[in-house]
Amino acid sequence: MKKLILLCSLLFSVLIFAQNTYLHCGKLIDTKSGTVLTKKTIIVSGKKITAIENGYVSPKNNNDIVIDLKSKTVMPGLIDMHVHIESETNPKKYLEVFTQNEADVAFTSTQYAKTSLMSGFTTVRDLGGSGVNVALKKAVASGKIVGPRIFTAEKSLATTGGHADPTNGYRRDLAGNPGPKEGVVNSVEDAKKAVRQRYKNGADLIKITATGGVLSVAKNSSNPQFTIEEIKAICETAKDYGFHVAAHAHGDEGIQRAILGGVKTIEHGTLMSKETMELMKKHDVYLVPTISAGKFVSEKAQIKNYYPDVIVPKALDIGPKIQDMFGRAYKAGVGIAFGTDAAVFYHGDNAKEFGFMVEAGMPAMETIQSATITNAMILKMENQLGQLKNGFIADIVATNDNPVDNISTMENVVFVMKEGKVYKQ
Ligand SMILES: [Zn+2]
Repeated sequence: MKKLILLCSLLFSVLIFAQNTYLHCGKLIDTKSGTVLTKKTIIVSGKKITAIENGYVSPKNNNDIVIDLKSKTVMPGLIDMHVHIESETNPKKYLEVFTQNEADVAFTSTQYAKTSLMSGFTTVRDLGGSGVNVALKKAVASGKIVGPRIFTAEKSLATTGGHADPTNGYRRDLAGNPGPKEGVVNSVEDAKKAVRQRYKNGADLIKITATGGVLSVAKNSSNPQFTIEEIKAICETAKDYGFHVAAHAHGDEGIQRAILGGVKTIEHGTLMSKETMELMKKHDVYLVPTISAGKFVSEKAQIKNYYPDVIVPKALDIGPKIQDMFGRAYKAGVGIAFGTDAAVFYHGDNAKEFGFMVEAGMPAMETIQSATITNAMILKMENQLGQLKNGFIADIVATNDNPVDNISTMENVVFVMKEGKVYKQ
């Protein structure tokens, strides 16, 4: 009897293991060729895509599952290269630094993670938080929390008083003197130590704030804030750990230093000159546009007390300029990596960026390629993510309409599968 039970349970687990999911896809976006294919079946086994067949293939085994997406457009899970998964905008945010414990941040962040996944973003690059981001990444990876796959910078690197100095605007006795451990760098030696500290803390990449920024409690939104030697030291040290470097930058001089220093992506890029666009191309550096963030801050800056006073003129100046710059950069041939800066606006609204990109002149298909195949490549995941292809991770999403005809359909993702598991249907 015992043997029979053992045999039965063994057989049962084999059957479970062998269960395949057949996705019948009316339209399927081939991100490699940039074409929309019709009537395809994606076969998913475990966490991976094991085949893509022509037509609607019927399953071979009784326990296989069929998912009917015949009226949908199916594409790889989306990747947002610029989010802050720990936090979200609200008028009390600048006070919350003093009232919220790490555990408060952690619990709230799980909601942002879930919202991001449900809106079709199966992978995000988190560009800076307090360290909760590393814990969240692990919790998602181990299946304890529902959320996107996270690549995180842990804490952004800044210079003293710079955009990501964690104590900007604090009363002097509370501010202390943050250093490389806290992500504040003022020399080549500090730069190396700060990168190594991020490695120790569990980061996957490095983020620097190469110029001033809009939402920090400081006057300047766009001045250069690192020397080129410091940026070089960061990028060279990052390379030792297999990290790439993302640089927040609005001003042209800071963008140039970041490119020449060796970063992989420029975030925002607001005041980028034509000459700098050429430099981007020459050094194979990608622009992460974050048009959504620009639009949101310029809108909220008009509401009294939404932001501290010092931030308002910066938001009104920088915010509206991003989309126009993006249009010019795209036309100049700069590589575009889809990214939004979610947290500056509400998590889950990430896909509005597609519409803003199309509005500025980028064809819809290219915006989707940017959010899939391009971003997978920057994350060195090009053989696992960003395409619907045999052997790739089964991160699959679907929309009601074909986004090539109606880009706003991206804002309403109706099906989400991550690593073969259905989260939304
Ligand atoms: Zn950001």
